[in-house]
Amino acid sequence: MYDYHLHSNFSFDCQEDLNELCQQAIRIGLTGICFTDHCDFETPSGKNSIFNIAEYQKTIHALQKKYSGQLDIRIGIEVGMQKQNLQKTRDFLHQGSFDFVIASCHYIDGKTIFKETFCQGKSQIDAFRQYFMRIFEMVREFTDFQVLGHLDVIRRDKTFLEQPFHYADYGDIIDAIFRTIIVRGQGIEINTAAPRYGLTGFHPHLDILKRYRELGGEVITCGSDAHSINNIGSGIPEAYQMLKELGFQTISIFQSGKEKRIPL
Ligand SMILES: [Zn+2]
Ligand SMILES: [Zn+2]
Repeated sequence: MYDYHLHSNFSFDCQEDLNELCQQAIRIGLTGICFTDHCDFETPSGKNSIFNIAEYQKTIHALQKKYSGQLDIRIGIEVGMQKQNLQKTRDFLHQGSFDFVIASCHYIDGKTIFKETFCQGKSQIDAFRQYFMRIFEMVREFTDFQVLGHLDVIRRDKTFLEQPFHYADYGDIIDAIFRTIIVRGQGIEINTAAPRYGLTGFHPHLDILKRYRELGGEVITCGSDAHSINNIGSGIPEAYQMLKELGFQTISIFQSGKEKRIPL
């Protein structure tokens, strides 16, 4: 099994050492991992969250050597798409060579999506539609990624945590997102962190995942989004099982942006 969404101390919100993360991955029997540290150009705290690419690559290259034959380690990144910073994000990506890029959306117009500030004062439908619409607008012009991260992360927001999610309320926009990325060979991730934020199941919601498959989506990665060593690999076996039950046959892994499909 592969965990394709992991943070280390190259992320502003994580203290974990990369070597220890690799050891833990081996201990729990993962076949491969992909580090996906954060790149967000503006955060509500006023600081950007980017890292030194050369240092990052050097550190991971050394680990690839050290654990060769034991653990398949990839160099990834999780970019937070921000409408006003898409060119900066492209430029940052072009400074390095990444195996895998997750495109997520953490902030809109300086407001955090999943910590009340974005949703404040909006109805659930308005907040969620605005969020999905912003992602649609961005994926039309930003193409430098392999999968969309935690597509419905807005469901984590405590404001609407108890409310049911109805695909039909957002289906027109989510369909448009999928139609845009599927033809480009891009996919989505199953983000297994959702239960850690009080949700049942994973990101995205089962109805979103089913629709992705209906529209011909086949590119899928699974990631724990671990920010702590104890969460590596958590939920991955369950996610694989769920994908099989939904009729998906493969999981995708990446090297230099090139996809390889592994039977589930
Ligand atoms: Zn994220
Ligand atoms: Zn993440």
